[in-house]
Amino acid sequence: MFFRKPKARTIQTTIEDFQVEVSFKPIKNMYLKVSRSTGKIRVSAPLRTSPNVIEDFVNSRANWIRKHLSKKIEKKIDHNYVDGELIRVFGTEYPLKVDYSYKNILAYIHNEQLFLRIKENYDHKKREKVVEAFYRKELKKLVGEMIEKWEPVMGVKVNEFGIKKMKTRWGTCNVNDHRVWINLHLAKEKPEVIELVVVHEMVHLLERLHNKRFYALMDKFLPNHRALEKALDGKVC
Ligand SMILES: [Zn+2]
Repeated sequence: MFFRKPKARTIQTTIEDFQVEVSFKPIKNMYLKVSRSTGKIRVSAPLRTSPNVIEDFVNSRANWIRKHLSKKIEKKIDHNYVDGELIRVFGTEYPLKVDYSYKNILAYIHNEQLFLRIKENYDHKKREKVVEAFYRKELKKLVGEMIEKWEPVMGVKVNEFGIKKMKTRWGTCNVNDHRVWINLHLAKEKPEVIELVVVHEMVHLLERLHNKRFYALMDKFLPNHRALEKALDGKVC
């Protein structure tokens, strides 16, 4: 019998819910590289490594990978919520105008400014909560409109959707219940980027995995989705 030496090669595979590029090389140990800017996960493995070994290797580092990919989401922008401070809403920065002269507490945009009606004794946390309630309301409205727009185009039905603060993902989709969650932090991003996440989650109703079929559907519905993913710093969910 004659055994040929395995050749160096690169394959694409899915492990957990990660898209992983595996390069088999004449090396001794396995390595893992994660690019936060592109969301790419690359494994370099010795030539004869079996798929199970690679899968275990990636699985054992799943938490680290998620944490690494999500750093940008968790990164806190520190606002003091005082007059003149710039606050981002749907990709546009609005100067903040704090107003203590009303009883009702709310935030709203008027004349290119973000008004914050609060009490004088409101601390940072309370101010942040008022802005977040505003973000939640505006984002829920926008996402609702986007879902309505895309349902007939994609031929899917979203039964329920909501907004919540998430640390590791921009969105999630419960494929069985047709329920979509969108990250509250997306309220700072441009509508096109928000739409990318909405369409991504809705495509999961047609294909649950991040496989070739999934990306073919993304190409069909949002041909510029890759550029938008970059703007979002990689991974959607
Ligand atoms: Zn996804």
